[in-house]
Amino acid sequence: MRVLLWLCLLLPLSLNAAERLQVVTSFSILADMTRQIGGDHIDIYNIVGPDADAHTFEPSPDDARHIQQAGLVVTNGLHFESWLDRLVSGTQTKALVIRASDGVIPRTMEEDGQTIADPHAWNNLANAKIYAVNIKRALIQADPAHSDAYERNYQTYLAAIEKLLAYAQSTLGQLPAGNRHIVTSHDAFAYLGQAYGIRFSAPQGLSTEREPSAAEVAALIRQIREEHIKAVFVENIKDGRLLKQIAEESGARIGGTLYSDALAAEGPASTYLGMYRSNIDTLTQALRD
Ligand SMILES: [Zn+2]
Repeated sequence: MRVLLWLCLLLPLSLNAAERLQVVTSFSILADMTRQIGGDHIDIYNIVGPDADAHTFEPSPDDARHIQQAGLVVTNGLHFESWLDRLVSGTQTKALVIRASDGVIPRTMEEDGQTIADPHAWNNLANAKIYAVNIKRALIQADPAHSDAYERNYQTYLAAIEKLLAYAQSTLGQLPAGNRHIVTSHDAFAYLGQAYGIRFSAPQGLSTEREPSAAEVAALIRQIREEHIKAVFVENIKDGRLLKQIAEESGARIGGTLYSDALAAEGPASTYLGMYRSNIDTLTQALRD
């Protein structure tokens, strides 16, 4: 009897869920952008969660099942999710699969003698506008019945991105010229650096898959001393021990935590715009004097 009552209570909910577009996002930043634009008309299953590292992620059978049943799959592209292509093709899903970074002009970096595209394109707010329009178009294509709502939510989101762009230009743009070189764990901030004339160095390259050698760490410590780099920053997706060791041995101080490849689980940095603002404020505070 009690079970039946529960079933009656649950039924309307599950019917509603079946009507909503089922969306899978590959990592937390895309989950938030997609939620802002999709609003109440979609259900999101996100694969790599807050504070987690998508470079070294290993998907589960549950992830495959959600992709198989989805109507839309939103990925970053630029080889960020090295595990994703095989996962998607393995499910033979009929979902629309899009790369949110399509249309971004990719930065390239030399790594181990190869030229590779930098996947961290979301770290430039101008690129976030491209992500947002790609996500909006995909939602409309997968669920045309709610195109008006997606268009409206997109316009609201775009206005919020523009507002943060103006804030970033007025704060980061005013940092003293001599304070524009900093150190993080891995090369995740080159797009931000390019936008605001800040140079980022890191013991690890574009991906976190390979640990840096002792010689590479020693070279970075030397560079910090020689160039009088003032602050090093830990990242939310990484164990901060190596950076703390680098700070101690080089005499630089820890400037705070930057959100690189994932949102925070809670608090102001649990949305993309919140995390970007937090990064702007952390950088400004550490570098302005
Ligand atoms: Zn990364």
